[in-house]
Amino acid sequence: MRIRRLKLSGFKSFVEPSELRIEPGLTGVVGPNGCGKSNLLEAIRWVMGENSPKSMRSGGMDDVIFAGTASRPPRDFAEVVLQGNSGDGEELEVVRRIERGAGSAYRVNGRDVRAKDVALTFADAATGAHSPALVSQGKIAQVIAAKPAERRMMLEEAAGIAGLHVRRRDAEGKLRQTEANLARLEDLMAGLD
Ligand code: ATP
Repeated sequence: MRIRRLKLSGFKSFVEPSELRIEPGLTGVVGPNGCGKSNLLEAIRWVMGENSPKSMRSGGMDDVIFAGTASRPPRDFAEVVLQGNSGDGEELEVVRRIERGAGSAYRVNGRDVRAKDVALTFADAATGAHSPALVSQGKIAQVIAAKPAERRMMLEEAAGIAGLHVRRRDAEGKLRQTEANLARLEDLMAGLD
């Protein structure tokens, strides 16, 4: 997929609504230490569904919301909008918003969706919160030291088939449920004889 625009509001150090256009070619983000460069990468991961405190350098879910400074009060929500084109060239707009103490909600192209749908959308576009294309500090050493199974996951993601694993787990769950229903039905029918 291609990301064209990123909008942040109340996300970590980006307290004011901020918009970044990502042009074709190489994009570099420069600035002094602590100015928020890594927070941008985390915003991309977060809108893709990331919750892990380690990836987000945070403790709880609400820690991505601007926490306030000596001169500014904290915000009570954070929102990240990612606009781009999905793998097959379709326009894609994904929004994730979190309210303090109330959890987060997602929208894809204006429709309310579940976190799972967002993960599938990005997996089908051959990317996602754990994509090796999102290279944070220390990531290169991690890729070199990756175990074969982890390398395979990276290849599967690049090939755009990562979403199939989720669908397979879903289908297996439904199959087990149906088998249990059938067994129960057979018990009931035996009782009627
Ligand atoms: P470096 O070059 O040192 O890695 P960086 O430019 O990548 O720095 P980040 O690590 O992205 O900077 O930004 C860190 C800044 O974000 C810190 O100043 C930190 O106080 C601020 N920050 C992180 N979370 C929040 C939050 N919830 N509310 C307010 N500020 C936050």
